[in-house]
Amino acid sequence: MSKAVIIHNYGGADELTIVDMDVSKPSFGEVKVQHKYCGLNYIDIYQRTGLYNVELPTVLGMEASGTVVAVGGGVSHLKPGDRVAYASQPPGAYCEERVMPAAQVCVLPEKISFQEGAAMMLKGLTVEYLIHRTTPIKKGDTVLFHAAAGGVGLIACQWARSEGINLIGTAGNDQKCALAVKYGAVHCINYNTHDFVEEVTKITNKQKVDVVMDSVGAATFDGSMDCLKPLGMLICFGNASGPVENFNVGVLGQKGSLKVTRPTLFTHIDDHKKCQSMAAHLFKKIESGEVKIRIDQEYSLAKISYAHKQLEQRKTTGSTILKVT
Ligand code: NDP
Repeated sequence: MSKAVIIHNYGGADELTIVDMDVSKPSFGEVKVQHKYCGLNYIDIYQRTGLYNVELPTVLGMEASGTVVAVGGGVSHLKPGDRVAYASQPPGAYCEERVMPAAQVCVLPEKISFQEGAAMMLKGLTVEYLIHRTTPIKKGDTVLFHAAAGGVGLIACQWARSEGINLIGTAGNDQKCALAVKYGAVHCINYNTHDFVEEVTKITNKQKVDVVMDSVGAATFDGSMDCLKPLGMLICFGNASGPVENFNVGVLGQKGSLKVTRPTLFTHIDDHKKCQSMAAHLFKKIESGEVKIRIDQEYSLAKISYAHKQLEQRKTTGSTILKVT
């Protein structure tokens, strides 16, 4: 039996319930993992509230670390006893033990702890594809990155700095802004007290930015377009303030032949080889010290409802992990 956090209905954080579940044996292409920690991500909130559809009832969670306890047929990159971490769908990571597809499970280098593994796979692989696989970004380019002091944000600040990319962050208070700058943002704008479009215009001497990475959604979408140079790229990769609705593509032309894309990590890591190579790139960034994983919140799995509330009330910085065993 494995303890797992399940939702029966979409709703608030109090829908999250701990139950005991049977765990089967791995079939072909699957692996059984005993978790040490699982990671909390904003996507877990979208799934819990029903903004993103999941099959109900379901165990939530898209990211974890632990030890392989059994492998099914056809799995050659893992063996029992391996230390591993992963980001993968479908959800199911908020539990002690699970059977899951092996393709996205990665062997964790010795230098990287189980805590870091659970805090960085979904967030770090996201930064990898945002910076290297979405639109050409070169040394010296300027990127605006919203919510720069969050889990994905602090990784993005450091990764950008390591590539010579000027990342201008935004964040919801001055302490968060100071943190983003400490982690590599060249500037960080408190978008609750300042108009971020005006600030970006000032900081860039009216040049504006090449790329905007916007995971805030409804509240920032229009302003994000106004921060772009002609032919700039808006990468909409999340909706923490709500989804962008009724978008008129004609606006892209009026604002200077802009481009917009709406990527998800899971398209990028669907292929086993590509996922493993993105993970190797992420591990290299961590092992070289260029990117450090900052874990500001650690709770027991029993505190999952509280952890969700903290994240959605914007009370967190960096990554949040849940200790499982
Ligand atoms: P964060 O730790 O960044 O938390 C979300 C942050 O969003 C908050 O801390 C807050 O920062 C900011 N925010 C702005 N407006 C709101 C609002 N109305 N309600 C709540 N938060 C708000 O989360 P993650 O690191 O887990 O994820 C960051 C974003 O990236 C999420 O939107 C997530 O969905 C997206 N994502 C997308 C992926 C993809 O492939 N498409 C993959 C991974 C993540 P502040 O107070 O500074 O404004």
